[in-house]
Amino acid sequence: MITFNKPSITELEKKYILDSLETKKICGDNKYTKKCNELIKEKFGFNPLLTTSGSTALDLAALLCEIKPGDEVIVPSFTFVSTANAFILRHAKIIFADIDKDTMNIDPSDIEKKITSKTKVICVVHYAGVACDMDKIMKIARKHNIKIVEDAAQAIGSYYKGKMLGTIGDYGAFSFHETKNIAMGEGGMIVVKDIKDFEKAEMIREKGTNRNQYFKGFVDKYTWQVPGDSLLPSDILSALLYAQLERFDEIQNKRLKIWNYYFKKLKMLEEKKKLRRPIIPDYATNNAHIFYLIMNSEKERDNLINFLKEKGIQAPFHYIPLHESTMGKKLGYKIGDLPTSEEYSKRLIRLPLYYDLKGDEIKYIVESIFNYFGETNED
Ligand SMILES: *Cc1c(COP(=O)(O)O)cnc(C)c1O
Repeated sequence: MITFNKPSITELEKKYILDSLETKKICGDNKYTKKCNELIKEKFGFNPLLTTSGSTALDLAALLCEIKPGDEVIVPSFTFVSTANAFILRHAKIIFADIDKDTMNIDPSDIEKKITSKTKVICVVHYAGVACDMDKIMKIARKHNIKIVEDAAQAIGSYYKGKMLGTIGDYGAFSFHETKNIAMGEGGMIVVKDIKDFEKAEMIREKGTNRNQYFKGFVDKYTWQVPGDSLLPSDILSALLYAQLERFDEIQNKRLKIWNYYFKKLKMLEEKKKLRRPIIPDYATNNAHIFYLIMNSEKERDNLINFLKEKGIQAPFHYIPLHESTMGKKLGYKIGDLPTSEEYSKRLIRLPLYYDLKGDEIKYIVESIFNYFGETNED
């Protein structure tokens, strides 16, 4: 069986985890968290705050946005539940926007239609690590004085016009869940643009205290400052992340190689109008988080999933649009409200993509797709 996803764990990850245990300082913000912070700063140019997950990074962003009951937050419907949960838990009213069919990213023209005097935040999702149309979105935000949260859970190392995703809006939330390009099991980070917000984020993350300033020697005791939570990952997990960060380029090169192989080999099937490959706009880079295909119909997509399953290949679909879920219906949404999300989510299939995927496995996956269409792979 070729599984859909598998994290890449080497001797380096094991070595750092063991070393972290040896330090006997295994709570957050110790040796490996600090090493991660330094390496992230060096590689990506910002000061992160590691969190227990991408979801809690979004929670932290929602807290920093100071959502009040009744505030409206615009999110795409085609996303993971956490994008909406972070805000609904703060009693925001969730307003779903539709997506652009080329990128599966939130459609700026639909955002504009959904803005009211109550709109407080727009939370965009860079699906598959490919940038949303950020100039258009930032322009809307400035015009209406709205905060931007970037759900960059899938977007590590991906750029929009030279700017790393997650650093363009007010807050960026990343995930290092097992399923992401680099992983710490469960974990994430937040990027905060404004330095004043950064200090507040540090406090919220440390149970609402100024413990970080105490550690830095700025104050001689730490106390309760703001309502907070406990959002630091254990240093053992940071040790795992540190190894993955050191291997980042190696992991990315391999993922990109696989992504490009699929892209090149499946071109012929696109030319024959059997399927559509991902579209990367000129303003965006590709971090090879997901390789997906858009099939001509839901039936064709389901048939291909089943065909590949019989061949021993796991190729799943992705999000059911949130407005179609039980919770979405409770919020008053119904089928037909967001047609592009509905249509394209039904036609999308993802192919296996991970560091340890072997050359002959990738070939076999491509061959199997050609087989499905009764076509032969000519080169
Ligand atoms: C993975 C993911 C999340 C959640 O991250 P966790 O670390 O699993 O909590 C949120 N949003 C999107 C778009 C994701 O892909």
